[in-house]
Amino acid sequence: MPIAMQSLHYRIAPLDVHAHLFEVTCTLADPDADGQRFRLPTWTPGSYLIREFARHFVQVAANCNGVPVAITKDGKDSWQAAPCTGPLVVVAQVHAFDLSVRTAYLDATRAYFNGSSTFLCPVGRERVRCLLDIDPAFAIALPGARVATSMRREGAPAWGFGRHVATDYDDLIDHPVEIGAFVTSSFTAGATAHDLVVTGARDIDLARVSRDLARICQWECDLFGGAANSAAPFDRYVFLVMAVGDGYGGLEHRSSTSLLCKRDDLPREGESAISDDYLTFLGLAAHEYFHSWNIKRIKPAVFTPYDLSREAFTRQLWVFEGITSYYDDLALTRSGVVAPERFLELVGRTLTNVLRTPGRHLQSLGDASFDAWIKFYRPDENSPNAGVSYYAKGAIVALALDLLLREHGSSLDALMRELWRRHGAAGAGVAEGEVAELASSLAKADLADFFRRYVDGVEDPPLAAMLANVGVTLTLRASEGARDRGGKPASLVRPPASWIGAKYPASGEPRLTHVYRNGPAARAGLSANDSIVAIDGIRASSEGLAATLARATPGTRLAIEAFRRDVLMHFDVMLEAAPEDTAFLTLTNDIGKDMLQRRVAWLGA
Ligand code: ZN
Repeated sequence: MPIAMQSLHYRIAPLDVHAHLFEVTCTLADPDADGQRFRLPTWTPGSYLIREFARHFVQVAANCNGVPVAITKDGKDSWQAAPCTGPLVVVAQVHAFDLSVRTAYLDATRAYFNGSSTFLCPVGRERVRCLLDIDPAFAIALPGARVATSMRREGAPAWGFGRHVATDYDDLIDHPVEIGAFVTSSFTAGATAHDLVVTGARDIDLARVSRDLARICQWECDLFGGAANSAAPFDRYVFLVMAVGDGYGGLEHRSSTSLLCKRDDLPREGESAISDDYLTFLGLAAHEYFHSWNIKRIKPAVFTPYDLSREAFTRQLWVFEGITSYYDDLALTRSGVVAPERFLELVGRTLTNVLRTPGRHLQSLGDASFDAWIKFYRPDENSPNAGVSYYAKGAIVALALDLLLREHGSSLDALMRELWRRHGAAGAGVAEGEVAELASSLAKADLADFFRRYVDGVEDPPLAAMLANVGVTLTLRASEGARDRGGKPASLVRPPASWIGAKYPASGEPRLTHVYRNGPAARAGLSANDSIVAIDGIRASSEGLAATLARATPGTRLAIEAFRRDVLMHFDVMLEAAPEDTAFLTLTNDIGKDMLQRRVAWLGA
């Protein structure tokens, strides 16, 4: 097939599956006369860390009509080809062995790629149509493999190898491609075809997963479209699911998502209960699907367009990740997949996570958003002391904002619909501070104080009082140990009375992973990564430390021996009363008709 003059022509093939090498070719019919420059993104939309994808390019060569053309690196993510007349072909060897949703993977069982980590972009051709040939050589290298992607086919058969097409480079890198022996199922939501593609697990109840996803997707389409127009904002949607022994992650795209989950998260034939693990999977899918509106189409102004060569700073990530996190749980109950009590359990866990993060009193949601690039994606032993997650606290502030808007006769649903109308459907970026102004206008009241305190400031929203207003009781209690994530009432008759102020594993060697600021361990001089070897002269274990804390009363002194690196050190720790940092929410009984109405309006019937 002849190449259209202006189109960019990409081809990807397996060069060596055991060496995890793709061969990726980019052909330009009309390279710049004074030498064509190429760039590779340094980050991928949806994951806010400079990842230097170019470090996986092991070789780059160029030719013109088979004659070599010099191509040299002129920056960490850029290449300069010498001038040539005629089509310029650049051939790259790309190492791909990252089992995450963000970059690329190739071995003898599976190929996967996000274009941002594999496709060079000729500078100045960002808006040019792109053709992608997925080479049939994959079928030989990966016997039984098929192709799954939301990228539009241009000649390739359904699920087959061959030509695909993207409107431009931005579109090309927003349709990840899965090549393997996967299983599929399909369903309709928002009057649109959806495909579910699962790699790595075969004995699962695909029909059940499709049924549950269909309800969640339909609810999200209805939320944004309103009753009048609940159509999805794409022609087709694909859930690409990679099931592994242990793993978790998701990345949103304009008409697909890549999900990484545990094999055990997916239900097997014959199972009917919604396990916590399956709920985790449904929540992840609901989250990424919600992004189809909230970040893929309603975007911060600084993302329109993306500059993938450097960080794009915004104080609004909490809007796009926090509000999405709130809705990923809410969608599960509002769509009727689980009872409201399960949703309240999830909120209790998120709130527990926030309450156990002393850094929330130092870093605001706006600051956490801005510093995502250097902090959120690079957690360390001091993270809980220094900052807060714009996902977890963002979800809690989204809940508080929803309840506040409802007190004023509006809702977060209305705010999301208005953002969709003004920005998503219109393709206009959301300016910094605009969400706060929109909330005030919907509430017909000045809500600036809310944003000053809980988004730009470091206060905790008064959730107990706000929830009481909709017939939900928030209760705080002490943690029962390392496995207690909150969300449920106490299970022990006598929970631990004392607290050491450090996080350690539930079993095995009690090596401290985090030492909380101003807690007993910190005051005694213990640090993260210290490994406790003895307590009061007896060999220590994580289970033993937990048992000691369960028995000891606040004020008890412990003589602790611990290794810091290879140095044995002694610490005298005075235990304190266990803080009430564990939350659970329950439906309040015997409430009046008005309150019940407000609760039903929020949680559904
Ligand atoms: Zn997200």
